[in-house]
Amino acid sequence: MAMRKIGLIGGMSCEATAVYYRRINDLVRQRLGGLHQAELLLYSVDFQKIVDMQKSGHWDEAGRYLAGIGRSLENAGADCMLICAVTMHLVAPPVEAAITVPFIHVIDETAKRLRAAGCTRPFLLATRYTMEHGYYHERMKQHGIDVMVPDADGRPRVHNIIFEELCNGKVLDSSRDAFISLIEKAKSEGADSVIFGCTEICLILEADGLPLPGFDSTAIHSEAAVAFALHE
Ligand code: GLU
Repeated sequence: MAMRKIGLIGGMSCEATAVYYRRINDLVRQRLGGLHQAELLLYSVDFQKIVDMQKSGHWDEAGRYLAGIGRSLENAGADCMLICAVTMHLVAPPVEAAITVPFIHVIDETAKRLRAAGCTRPFLLATRYTMEHGYYHERMKQHGIDVMVPDADGRPRVHNIIFEELCNGKVLDSSRDAFISLIEKAKSEGADSVIFGCTEICLILEADGLPLPGFDSTAIHSEAAVAFALHE
């Protein structure tokens, strides 16, 4: 059976999309051997445009923009669609409505992994939008998962590390330490796992060896795309 083509709506940021590209290709080569690689179509946006829409709360406009990109990737031959950013799943509904190919939703894929590991009280590290808007919590609740987030001091700290450092390709030890202290605190408050709920967090933390079991959105999402592409 022919490999299906993966459609990636990326560039949010390019640092995370580069990890998707690498990981998807590595997985296909591991599975198929030789010099097999993924067939994929990537549309990489100018991230500043998205950041401006996020800051001004123009989510409808962002949804229309990403929906148009989704349509163009489908027209170009994509057999499935991913948005390579957790935050922009806030506008997943208009993107899904604009396409006819399967949309691989990062929250659903992460929830499946949490459930399989018996985790139901994860601690979420993500952008302020993801931690505060409610769309992430609501979708996880549908899977029977109750998400915890950092407190009012922790949330802006995490958000700023993502936008000022990680999206700019900067990985600082002091920020890694800050994430680890937040995870330790969450553990003492009853969290049973930690979600890297932003696709750049894998640049600074590894899912293994943390105070809590780690669930990396970028890895999980890439693996789901490859499973679809290879008809697994
Ligand atoms: N890539 C990030 C995420 O997964 C943040 C960038 C954005 O806001 O789109 O949420």
